[in-house]
Amino acid sequence: MTILVIAEHDNKVLAPATLNTVAAAAKIGGDIHVLVAGQGAGAVAEAAAKVAGVSKVLLADNAAYAHQLPENVAPLVAELGAGYSHILAAATSNGKNILPRVAAQLDVDQISEIVSVESADTFKRPIYAGNAIATVQSTAAVKVITVRATGFDPVAAEGGSAAVEAVAAAHDASTSSFVGEELAKSDRPELTAAKIVVSGGRGMQNGDNFKHLYALADKLGAAVGASRAAVDAGFVPNDMQVGQTGKIVAPQLYIAVGISGAIQHLAGMKDSKVIVAINKDEEAPIFQVADYGLVADLFEAVPELEKLV
Ligand SMILES: Cc1cc2nc3c(=O)[nH]c(=O)nc-3n(C[C@H](O)[C@H](O)[C@H](O)COP(=O)(O)OP(=O)(O)OC[C@H]3O[C@@H](n4cnc5c(N)ncnc54)[C@H](O)[C@@H]3O)c2cc1C
Repeated sequence: MTILVIAEHDNKVLAPATLNTVAAAAKIGGDIHVLVAGQGAGAVAEAAAKVAGVSKVLLADNAAYAHQLPENVAPLVAELGAGYSHILAAATSNGKNILPRVAAQLDVDQISEIVSVESADTFKRPIYAGNAIATVQSTAAVKVITVRATGFDPVAAEGGSAAVEAVAAAHDASTSSFVGEELAKSDRPELTAAKIVVSGGRGMQNGDNFKHLYALADKLGAAVGASRAAVDAGFVPNDMQVGQTGKIVAPQLYIAVGISGAIQHLAGMKDSKVIVAINKDEEAPIFQVADYGLVADLFEAVPELEKLV
């Protein structure tokens, strides 16, 4: 059995989600190869070669792959992946953009967002926004799988010494072109990779009040997230949304401030190792999942907490 893992990267840095995906591949067992499709992505391939458990890195360095356009990357993955037992990618925007096309081109079904590996053909995945876990068995010749990073502890970024092999195949479907991107810049850790997340909800009342959370987060080295209500009200941008229709996070510590704990929010954070909730309503459902709960007015509790850190 040989498994192909699609590297998540920005042509410069190998994204941490790749390490979780390699961890899922290691649970399946067999040789693990990593495909780096990009342009000028040599440093990413070198980093992938050092990842523990990886035996080979395929580097497809071509202008067609510079922006990970799925129309171009999917045929490459399908061509290379046809000889593998499994093809895995992180369930990120990129992974979710590329892998369904790969599955279609290989004429197999896709298994989405696995959170555990039972055996080489059987996997667990959440359904109904995480309210039930389905066990899925696949008979496909090539198993095409997206991996929910929060389900797998990452493998070590160092320790491997895989060979890097160049792949010449260039697929330029010419059906889409890259126009531009605007990336949110922040000195705080990225939400899905942060060890601590402080999130605010409708209880924050407005965007300006998020300054209390930013102050606390900066002392803790944390990322700042938000509920959908806070995003919809325009308090903060929607890339901060945690939940079913936002980002899935599982940090060591999640602090929910002025968040009621609707199931759609819990779907994005309930796998956090320790959950702390601050809410003035002792009946708030967030307290049912919280390890530590503080019934208090957030405008008093958060500044006090910040002073203590
Ligand atoms: C299809 C679908 C997808 C969705 N996806 C998401 C998603 O991805 N993420 C998400 O978050 N939601 C999502 N939602 C919305 C979700 O159902 C809730 O509406 C939302 O999570 C509520 O956000 P909230 O907890 O901030 O607001 P509320 O439910 O209004 O809760 C605010 C809380 O703040 C507390 N509070 C108020 N003032 C204070 C104070 N001064 N001090 C302390 N506590 C205070 C209140 O007691 C209350 O518990 C989705 C809904 C649907 C239908």
